[in-house]
Amino acid sequence: MLRFDCPCCGPRDHDEFRYGGDASVRRPAHNDPDPEAWYAYVYIRKNPAGLHREFWQHVTGCRQWLVVERDTRNHVISSVAFARTSQA
Ligand SMILES: [Zn+2]
Repeated sequence: MLRFDCPCCGPRDHDEFRYGGDASVRRPAHNDPDPEAWYAYVYIRKNPAGLHREFWQHVTGCRQWLVVERDTRNHVISSVAFARTSQA
């Protein structure tokens, strides 16, 4: 079981959170006409063995969106930050 140290609520089990996807993916500009950019944004994901930045929402707590940096090899969480203040 994963435990996230929510910056608002403190340490909580992962079943209080909802996975929100890869936090390293950047949305193309609203008026970007390039279909390849939109295809990559919607469908292409990496599957890294190592550090991975992920969005998680604390749905049964503060409801904040977080960026969690987790090592996919051993599930060690190295950082948790509010998504609204996190940089890519
Ligand atoms: Zn929270």
